Amino acid sequence: MHTKNNDPLDTNPEKKSPKHRDHDRFVKEVWAINYFRVGMIIKFLIAIFAALLFFDIAFDKYPVLFSIHLSAIGCSLLYWGMTALAKKRGFNDSIYWQMAFVLSYCFLMVTAFGFTALFYYIKDLIIYLLPVFAVGLFILLSPKHSFIFFATTHSIFVLTSIFGTTDTYLMVKNIVNSTIAVILVLVFMRLTFQMKQHEFEQRIIIEERTAELETINQRLHELATTDELTDLPNRRVFIQSLEQEMERAHRYKHPFSVMFLDLDNFKHINDTLGHSAGDAALRHFASALKGSLRDSDMPGRMGGEEFGIILPNTDLKNGALLAERLRQNVEKSTVLYQGKKITFTVSIGVAAYSEEISNIDELLRKVDEALYEAKAEGRNCIVQKA
Ligand code: GH3
Ligand code: MG
Ligand code: MG
Repeated sequence: MHTKNNDPLDTNPEKKSPKHRDHDRFVKEVWAINYFRVGMIIKFLIAIFAALLFFDIAFDKYPVLFSIHLSAIGCSLLYWGMTALAKKRGFNDSIYWQMAFVLSYCFLMVTAFGFTALFYYIKDLIIYLLPVFAVGLFILLSPKHSFIFFATTHSIFVLTSIFGTTDTYLMVKNIVNSTIAVILVLVFMRLTFQMKQHEFEQRIIIEERTAELETINQRLHELATTDELTDLPNRRVFIQSLEQEMERAHRYKHPFSVMFLDLDNFKHINDTLGHSAGDAALRHFASALKGSLRDSDMPGRMGGEEFGIILPNTDLKNGALLAERLRQNVEKSTVLYQGKKITFTVSIGVAAYSEEISNIDELLRKVDEALYEAKAEGRNCIVQKA
């Protein structure tokens, strides 16, 4: 049986490419970008109309003013529609795309000027290159879709040229030039689309790796802080909590107690029933412990068959009462392991924090002594130390 995939630390490199797995998300994103860009183009048109409007007011041409007004209102509505659609499709990263748009707009300007300079050399081709590149720059289409789009528009153009031009030389020249322009823009669109796809894949991979790392980190944290057999905090965490509790008690003058619990003659259980029976007994003990404590109490496994509990806001008297209750519960309970009943007892040492205790070692020594005395008194009992 393969246990490989159950391992939380296994990052499983054999996965489908993000392009295929997250295809829907990618398509959604591409269209959101397209809606957004078209929205931006309309926004620019509004700006141009506004300028014209200003010009018009200055020259007092009312009929033109009215039609421009209408166009501007129409464009505004369209723009808000496009951006709302982009938002609805989960495209919120608008600053980035506004920048991208401005950059591509600048690029268009630069190329337009560049092309104008070239105009005298290849002016017949430029006429076709400009509009198709304008479309190619702003609209992200997959190679398949851009082919369909340009094949359709180009066919219409070719047909109108054939039937609408009487000059054969001009007709052939137009068709050749527009075909070259369309082929160029198709290559360009393919490249930009692939770039977008690549960027998307990289982003997905990063997202996935981040999520994986978070899971691994969480697991590592668990492994570093939790005892695997009993799921209780380990010794390190227990000591850290104790340090914090001591600081709190010192600052706010709160009482608190600590107890150590050591299972009696545990070696005997291992020797007679086997190590796994011992493990079952330890697990049972730990879960019973968790079940009988308050949320604020902090149990931990100190190692082997020895446990500790920090009891915040608990004086020695109440700590000893709890210890006695725990001792009695353990004495009464039975663990059923593979049909066999396991019973055991526990010895407990309890000590309370007081102002005279200056460091954690002193407190631990005191609890240890109490536990040692409980063992010396014949086990299955509690000893408290003020
Ligand atoms: P005492 O009453 O004096 O505490 O006697 P004891 O036998 O409990 O104490 P001792 O220190 O002699 O032995 C502790 C035993 O606990 C020995 C060790 O094999 C067992 N033990 C420690 N950790 C584990 C564990 O994770 N699983 C199991 N099954 N046994 C453990
Ligand atoms: Mg023991
Ligand atoms: Mg022990």
